[in-house]
Amino acid sequence: MRTPFVAGNWKMNKTIAEARDLVSTLSIKLREINSVEKVLCPPFMSLLAVSTLLEGSDIGLGAQNMHWEEKGAFTGEVSPAMVKELCKYIILGHSERRAYFGETDEIVNRKLIAAQTVDLTPIVCVGETLDQYESKLTREVVSKQTSLSLRDVSPAFAPRIVVAYEPVWAIGTGKASNGPEANAVVKDVIRPALAELFGNETAQAIRVLYGGSVTSSNAVEFFGQPDIDGALVGGASLKVDEFAAITKAAAN
Ligand code: PEP
Repeated sequence: MRTPFVAGNWKMNKTIAEARDLVSTLSIKLREINSVEKVLCPPFMSLLAVSTLLEGSDIGLGAQNMHWEEKGAFTGEVSPAMVKELCKYIILGHSERRAYFGETDEIVNRKLIAAQTVDLTPIVCVGETLDQYESKLTREVVSKQTSLSLRDVSPAFAPRIVVAYEPVWAIGTGKASNGPEANAVVKDVIRPALAELFGNETAQAIRVLYGGSVTSSNAVEFFGQPDIDGALVGGASLKVDEFAAITKAAAN
């Protein structure tokens, strides 16, 4: 059995004061929802404030990015150990990082290995662009991203990884994929690529999320799919009632 997993990616939204406001109300609602792993990923600036508010709760904290190097002359970057001081989770290879900051599968892989070194639970994002989708390249692209981004991970660490299948054309567009189509990519492309890397048992144990315009209205459709274990939520994670309703849907 794979425990359902819901993570909120706040992207570059909320000041520290706004983050405190949001978490104060959200955490009360999330605390009532059990049997689902719940994670909030605010911007770096708010991690300390949010970690204080989440102390003693079962809501996990994650960062949205990090560098792979231990330390050094990398102005503006944050190291794995710095993230680990406050967080249990790290989002890696989000499509916005890939598109706007030149992150390749090789870079995502270096970050994943770094996450393994400091014992952070990674949420690794994969997904095809609209062009690739329309050219019917989804399977090829997602398979390659999964194989290259997750290679060289130790067999002991592999089951800790969470993969998020996020079709780029569905992110922030309000045009979500649909349950059966997303499930087919997870079942026929992502799990086989994971099986190739880690063996079938581990491939079946790894949580795979759907991400892309998830709302409280469509969440049930995705969570009802046998191979989808939860969601990585962007826009809707900034709205208390929406995110709580999505999390509740995952628990059910
Ligand atoms: C995301 O940021 O990973 C995401 C899926 O965004 P949204 O839910 O807004 O589409």
